Amino acid sequence: MEPSDELYETMVKRSARFDGRYYVGIVSTGIVCFPSCRSRLPKRENVCVYSSLEEAVQAGFRPCKRCRPDHPDRHSPDAEIAHGVMGILHTRLEEPLTLTLLAAELNMSPYHLQRIFKRVTGLSPARQLLMIRMDKARRLLAESDQEIGEVAREVGFRSSSHFSVTFKKEAGVSPQAYRIQKGDLRE
Ligand SMILES: [Zn+2]
Repeated sequence: MEPSDELYETMVKRSARFDGRYYVGIVSTGIVCFPSCRSRLPKRENVCVYSSLEEAVQAGFRPCKRCRPDHPDRHSPDAEIAHGVMGILHTRLEEPLTLTLLAAELNMSPYHLQRIFKRVTGLSPARQLLMIRMDKARRLLAESDQEIGEVAREVGFRSSSHFSVTFKKEAGVSPQAYRIQKGDLRE
């Protein structure tokens, strides 16, 4: 079956909307993927759609090593938990989030949450949160005129000096220097 416009669109956007419902065989590589696979987007004429992994495998496709459509854990309760935590980290990064607080919201022990999250994503919630905060800080520094203190608050730091030290450790340059670099590139 050929991909519908809608399905191909989710592949372009790496959306997980049809994951588990459709499997996409890539004729040029002989690999079968979830539609949201982050590998290089195949040309549309090279995509062959299946409604089960078994059909695709029977047709000669091998499961992708990257998106692991053959991995039964992907849509497991653990993955759901990690997904829920990621949602909180992304939408509430300006709040003083802690492992204890996240665990309380999800009704589980901090130890248990930490272990599950790390197993699914490869990072601890604290590390993941820091990366999300630094990404947003980079964006605000490069694209806005907000003062450093304001940027710090928006990404969850109460003190701008603590923010500056952390930013420098992560980005290699101070927030001020980073902004100047980006500003120069923009002119
Ligand atoms: Zn894949």
